[in-house]
Amino acid sequence: MPQFDKSLVWFRRDLRVFDNAALHHALKNSRAVFCVFVFDTDILQPLREAGLTADRRVEFIHASIMALDTALRKLGGGLIVRHGSALPEISSLASELDVNAVFTNRDYEPQAVTRDNAVKATLAKNGCIWHSYKDQVIFETDEILSLSAKPFSVFTPYKNAWMKRLAAADGEFFLKPYPISSYASRLATIPPENAVPIPSLSELGFTQTNLSELKIPTGIAGAEELLEDFMPRIGGYDTTRNFPAVKGPSYLSVHLRFGTISIRTLARNAYQAMRQGIEGSGASVWLSELVWRDFYFMILHHHPHVAQRAFKPDYDAIQWETGAPAEAAFQAWCDGRTGYPLVDAAMLQINQTGYMHNRLRMVVASFLIKDLGIDWRWGEAYFAAQLNDFDLSANNGGWQWAASSGCDAQPYFRIFNPITQSEKFDSEGKFIRRYLPQLAKLSNKAIHAPWLADADTLADAGIKLGVDYPRPLIQHDEARKQTLARYAVVKKVTEE
Ligand code: FAD
Repeated sequence: MPQFDKSLVWFRRDLRVFDNAALHHALKNSRAVFCVFVFDTDILQPLREAGLTADRRVEFIHASIMALDTALRKLGGGLIVRHGSALPEISSLASELDVNAVFTNRDYEPQAVTRDNAVKATLAKNGCIWHSYKDQVIFETDEILSLSAKPFSVFTPYKNAWMKRLAAADGEFFLKPYPISSYASRLATIPPENAVPIPSLSELGFTQTNLSELKIPTGIAGAEELLEDFMPRIGGYDTTRNFPAVKGPSYLSVHLRFGTISIRTLARNAYQAMRQGIEGSGASVWLSELVWRDFYFMILHHHPHVAQRAFKPDYDAIQWETGAPAEAAFQAWCDGRTGYPLVDAAMLQINQTGYMHNRLRMVVASFLIKDLGIDWRWGEAYFAAQLNDFDLSANNGGWQWAASSGCDAQPYFRIFNPITQSEKFDSEGKFIRRYLPQLAKLSNKAIHAPWLADADTLADAGIKLGVDYPRPLIQHDEARKQTLARYAVVKKVTEE
């Protein structure tokens, strides 16, 4: 027997009608279930104030919300869409609909946790119960602990424990989808007084971006399309994933970010492919990437200070470059004007598409921190503003990994050489040529470091350094020495 007469499901990072933990539990436990999404002004207003009114993420969410509403209507319900601050919007809607409970999926970001605690407390004052569920990850918070019952801070033992736990249940329990359609008759239609049309992008204060030009598929159907495209390639993922000119990865990150596909569906597909021994070891490597995602959510939960400071406190003693020269160097990095073609092409990729290949995220992050001597937080914030798939946990994890200040980071003395990275991972310069057509005529050898080419080679390729393409901002070998000196504070601590 359902426990509640009326409930409300609050969708946030889970914009789908299938395999959704909160929706499943609400339907199972209630006679009538309403659904809501809030375009949260606490998140959107700062973007508008910063002049970021053309934001691909807002457009992606908007398109995915329209699709979610259509899917809910097909099942007999519909999506109530509000535009305002989440706390008053959810509590007033809960009162208007007179619901007994609000169901939602857990969000692990510190600001979201604070917001949810406030909503929960406000609802409780009106006798409305808050139910939250694990949905974004396979294993959350304290589910994977070391033998001494402590959270892991190193990835490999965490992954081994993660895999062991999954295998012990044969994957069935943790990867099985939450059924929705069998309970769909409990979805309530939107009451006439709440049936307000979904605000348009411009009503939200945003403009259209190049999202459709980029052919980034949105919503549930978009995620399905990308998964179907990726599964035949999964076996070769381990060999293709490091080469930005090759279609190696899944490009599913934005869908995982907004929950237009469930993590269980992806992990199940990878796990099954791995167990069926699909040719190549790509499936297990790809599953590992999904485990990294869980790992960084777990780290953020246990160590929320990482959102502001180094995971390893010693690294907060590092003195980064400051002042006008650092600001100019940072701007050149943001604009793709460092003079290092792979770095510049990668920055143009993020600026033009909102996506950057994982290998390149590592290369440009290392370049900013260890070649330009700039605080990793500047780069982290830039990525946060640009990435379609921006996720505080993975972004912070990636940046702190590159800065060596993270939980399981590369050692401080490991400094990527942007030229050899380019020669290794874009050997024919295909990716570079895609974003820097002015370098297209350079040979496969010269394209990685144009300033090292002789005058004739540059002239033959029609390039005037400093005019058609910048001279390098720094010399890597010199920068490397400065970085080792900068990180000496950490070395001292490590040696003491
Ligand atoms: P695939 O290679 O197909 O991987 C599948 C999924 O696994 C990804 O969609 C993602 O959810 C997860 N994943 C893969 N690599 C990682 C990783 N290293 N850490 C955590 N999860 C991972 N990923 C984000 O989702 N959001 C971010 O804001 C983000 N910022 C990053 C910043 C830096 C400096 C670095 C080095 C990495 C960052 N990553 C981030 C991780 C990774 O680069 C992206 O997840 C990946 O490039 C997304 O493309 P894909 O979906 O094609 O990945």
